[in-house]
Amino acid sequence: MPEVDYVDGVASRSVFNFDRFQLNKDEIARIAILESKVVTEFAHYVQPDIHKGYYICLGDFNTLLTEGEEREKCPFCAKASRGGDIGTATQYFCTLILQYITNSKGQALKPINGIVKYWKFNAKKFTALKQIKDEFGELKKYDLLVGPCSSESFQNYDIRPGKDSLWSINPEDAKRISDYYKEERMGTKELVRLIGKNVDYDIASGIVADLTGGSRTASSEDVYGVEDVVGDDTVAESSSGEVDVDALLDGL
Ligand SMILES: [Zn+2]
Repeated sequence: MPEVDYVDGVASRSVFNFDRFQLNKDEIARIAILESKVVTEFAHYVQPDIHKGYYICLGDFNTLLTEGEEREKCPFCAKASRGGDIGTATQYFCTLILQYITNSKGQALKPINGIVKYWKFNAKKFTALKQIKDEFGELKKYDLLVGPCSSESFQNYDIRPGKDSLWSINPEDAKRISDYYKEERMGTKELVRLIGKNVDYDIASGIVADLTGGSRTASSEDVYGVEDVVGDDTVAESSSGEVDVDALLDGL
């Protein structure tokens, strides 16, 4: 077993140390997007406590975009129902943002500062962001004014473009905040993990059997060929949409 010392040793970072960007009822916020791309995946929400959580859909991403499900490849899709124990495959997006420290009116306090959080959102918000981008240009060039939030559980709020990108106006603020942000950045896999857990066909099938009282469906060998089966949920190859991590933070 490898040994590390306290000074130089590196602990693997848990994505769950990150706060999720969420608003309380009536809360407003000012945020900055510092990435050009977001990670996107389809996931199923499983409600019963024994397996509660989000699971990345095993279907092919492009098939899901057009068909909304892929029952042959994904045991969750095969038994999913809207609002049921196994929710239907739903597209989510995930990226990191900087949430400014503000007063209760949403005005940024000085010196400008913020907390990096992850933002997991649905297709409706993605469409809203895309509209803003089409109208006002790259989202990195201005802050976003978010809220007030009308429903805490559904995270319903408007998103509007701000006039400035506050963190980048003053060179000292820009340096301090971009240094902090670069340390906090994570890769595609970590962002996908924040959308849902990657499980292989056998595990997904077992979860579905637990929840439906049925027997497991065809083994992964029948479906994928055994060499494609990955047992480790952090390693399973995802079918996420395009992400260009290297191009991120350009121009800082
Ligand atoms: Zn699915």
